[in-house]
Amino acid sequence: MRRTRKLPHILYNWTVVVIGIWLLAHTFPLLNLDHGQALLILVALAVLAEWLAVVFPHGHLSGGFAVVFSTYLVFGPAAAAWVNGLSTLVGQGVANRGNPLRTILFNASQYVLATLGANFFYLLAGGSPDRSLAWANALPLAAFVFAYFIFNQSMVYLYTLPARRGYPLFRWADAMRWDGFTYLLTVPFGLLMAMLYSKIGIYGTVLLFVPVLAIQFMLRFYVHLEMANRELRVLYEVARRLGGNLKLDEMLSMVLREISRMINFHTGIIYLWSEEHGCYRVGASTGPHAGLLMDSTIRLGEGFLGLAAENREPQLVNDTRLDVRTAGDVGLIQVHRSMLVVPLVAETEVLGLIMLGDKRPAFFEYKHLQTLTIISGQTAVAITNVQLYKKLEKTAITDGLTGLYNHRYFYQRLLEDFQRAERYGAKLSLIMLDIDYFKQVNDRYGHLVGDTVLAGVSRIISGEVRSSDLAARYGGEEFAVMMPETGPTEAMHVAERIRLAVRENLFDNDGVRFQVRISGGVASYPVHAANVRELMDAADTALYRAKEEGRDRIVLYSHSFKAGG
Ligand code: GH3
Ligand code: MG
Ligand code: MG
Repeated sequence: MRRTRKLPHILYNWTVVVIGIWLLAHTFPLLNLDHGQALLILVALAVLAEWLAVVFPHGHLSGGFAVVFSTYLVFGPAAAAWVNGLSTLVGQGVANRGNPLRTILFNASQYVLATLGANFFYLLAGGSPDRSLAWANALPLAAFVFAYFIFNQSMVYLYTLPARRGYPLFRWADAMRWDGFTYLLTVPFGLLMAMLYSKIGIYGTVLLFVPVLAIQFMLRFYVHLEMANRELRVLYEVARRLGGNLKLDEMLSMVLREISRMINFHTGIIYLWSEEHGCYRVGASTGPHAGLLMDSTIRLGEGFLGLAAENREPQLVNDTRLDVRTAGDVGLIQVHRSMLVVPLVAETEVLGLIMLGDKRPAFFEYKHLQTLTIISGQTAVAITNVQLYKKLEKTAITDGLTGLYNHRYFYQRLLEDFQRAERYGAKLSLIMLDIDYFKQVNDRYGHLVGDTVLAGVSRIISGEVRSSDLAARYGGEEFAVMMPETGPTEAMHVAERIRLAVRENLFDNDGVRFQVRISGGVASYPVHAANVRELMDAADTALYRAKEEGRDRIVLYSHSFKAGG
């Protein structure tokens, strides 16, 4: 599971690294080591810039290019490549943001390639060999910056390609916006630093870089504010949309989507309690492993996630491989080094869990846990509302004693299905059933036993009809079955099956076994009726016949009944 990277990606990674090292080795003789001290100072400045880089979810911003650009202008391409490569290596190594070594090596090599590639385009555009700052040289210098930008963007684009597949977060426009801003800041400063060098030497350059670092520092605050602001907007948006009419799965997907606007993560899952399965199941998921985890389940109190649900405590794990809470846990944890887990708690129940995971260790912060906890509270309330609404909806259309549909709903569906049958010239049959001498059951065993008989007969009816049929409790001890696309013969067959099943069933009253019988009438559209009213009358008439003829039987309607035959 850990090796999700494909061979082309690994090849690409290391090819760039090898080329970078090769280029550095070959440009080394071009370095003028008389300027060794100045170059070291420039490396230190670039490292500082990298170290203080402004990091946000969709990229990072540093003034390092000002140093690289001025090095290029003053000392030439080889020096710029060396300063760029070395400072990236050291800078990213010092301020490690959870990137593996291969990524750091890749970035360093990438900058070496970009610097020398951009120099190629500078020369191609007719740039002067001494990189003079004269106006005549402006266009080639612009070509250098532009080529440097394109080289970097495309190399990073290729590098992040596999990770971005199914990755909800990568916003290209965002990354470009911040990059554009970086060049707007660093190019003029780079030019100024180069100019100042020719006047007062390396210390002028250093002096001029201080404002760049200061701006960078201020930007850190700005980005912090912007992130906090965005967080507020997203929280508002979630609250607003949770109040709307959303289906449960739509709602959960929306919640994950909105979370991804605030918190960067690799895989996100919302688990929901399933009464039917007695465990938590995936309600919504996003990220590259989403499909894989679709069938994963959590049992209350089992494993890290199950315990989190039981304890109702939000959990932040910095490294699943080292944390005692996750030690020995399989599955999810193998894929994710960092995890955020927040239970969805409504009053007394844990309805589910929100889980965010990332492959990199120490990826999440405490503030992410806080944000997620706020969202989980809102989500839990919204889930409760949806579930309550569903329950109410069901209560409104079913009969409490038997669990069958009630008369009102049955009639509504009958009207709809009848219209459909009329429109498509299809058949539709109706069975009316009435328990025989039911009053005697009540009289002999009491009303409560009568009720269990009603429930039992309902179960039998439900068991005998097909899923396309609709069974309802029509009245006290009367039942109705609607059978779309079914003719009289087949309906009679089903009705007979019900009658026999009821007849054979043994009911129990304190050890005394007894049986009940049932009578039924069947009528069918279009042979027996032209509209719903007639169809119901016909089935009723047939039922009446069955009672008259001695009960415990099913009678198919016939037009001759009306004539009094
Ligand atoms: P038959 O249909 O064979 O003519 O005789 P019957 O005794 O079943 O007669 P009828 O259909 O007129 O009687 C229905 C009885 O069902 C009357 C009522 O006491 C009883 N009943 C109706 N609803 C309920 C209920 O919810 N629970 C119980 N226990 N009895 C009910
Ligand atoms: Mg009856
Ligand atoms: Mg009756």
